[in-house]
Amino acid sequence: MLPAPFEYHAPKTMEEALGLLDELGEDAKVLAGGQSLIPLLKLRFASPAHLVDINKIEDLDFLEERDGTLRIGPLFRHKSAERSSLLASRYHVMADAAPQIADPIIRNRGTIAGSVVHADPSGDWGTVLLALDAELVLRSKSGSRTVKARDFFSGPFSTSIQATEILSEIRIPAARPQTGGAYLKLERKVGDFATVAVAVHLQMDDGKVGSAGIGLTAVGPQNIKAERAEAALRGARLDDATIKQAAALAAEAAEPRADHRGSIEYKRNVVRVFTERGLKRAYERARGGG
Ligand SMILES: Cc1cc2nc3c(=O)[nH]c(=O)nc-3n(C[C@H](O)[C@H](O)[C@H](O)COP(=O)(O)OP(=O)(O)OC[C@H]3O[C@@H](n4cnc5c(N)ncnc54)[C@H](O)[C@@H]3O)c2cc1C
Repeated sequence: MLPAPFEYHAPKTMEEALGLLDELGEDAKVLAGGQSLIPLLKLRFASPAHLVDINKIEDLDFLEERDGTLRIGPLFRHKSAERSSLLASRYHVMADAAPQIADPIIRNRGTIAGSVVHADPSGDWGTVLLALDAELVLRSKSGSRTVKARDFFSGPFSTSIQATEILSEIRIPAARPQTGGAYLKLERKVGDFATVAVAVHLQMDDGKVGSAGIGLTAVGPQNIKAERAEAALRGARLDDATIKQAAALAAEAAEPRADHRGSIEYKRNVVRVFTERGLKRAYERARGGG
């Protein structure tokens, strides 16, 4: 099917883009990599009267560590995450997730920011950002506000972003020494969305867990932050009993539905097993292992 007719805008500056969104409101959609939006238009699940393409705006494709924060721009693409040596060395959960997203063609165009705003409960980046305790900077013509990733998602394909706003930056606390992470994803075949996936981010402090982040993909109406599991880890030594307890709490936080990919019990069990494995892998990496 062809998309319904729309007017195409290609602003050259952020101010121009925000002005257009302010003027057009709900009639407009931002176009980033187009890897979720274009299929929706073709299926006519969405028919905005205007598309505001942000790809012509300079300086939106960035990844940098500055002032204790990792900053990610709105046009930073999956493939750049996959190839980043910074992410490979210090943000393992992101480096693990990137090559598991879709296929190389989609990774060439799709952006982390677009994935997060799309808010597919089976999307991988939202979960990763929940584990990393990220913040999202939402800019509009009248200013900007910062929202925690945990407060951003509100249900399947829904978030707190307004039609007049652009996700202009993703902010993640810079990785300290003794930080490790992992992303484990079960998919039916390479390039598929997750049946279940688990993101783990650990910061060790003097042999104990300083902070822990655990996110769950495809086991609820939105990406889930397993906060009780995280709390059980904080301040604890990472022995087998602690790992098992956290994994059980993560499985409890999951709200899977039975479908052709598996039963509720099966998916919960995958969450439990992946959380155990993810914690062990993250701990190894925090101690300098692969
Ligand atoms: C076959 C297939 C397989 C896929 N597999 C996976 C997978 O395994 N895992 C996974 O996580 N994803 C998967 N995806 C989704 C893919 O990763 C998309 O790239 C991603 O969801 C959207 O990013 P985008 O830049 O293409 O956004 P777009 O498609 O351009 O936009 C998506 C939505 O976000 C809005 N938007 C985009 N950027 C901004 C911004 N900066 N500010 C405000 N609003 C914005 C748009 O208006 C739109 O509503 C798959 C997609 C396909 C087609």
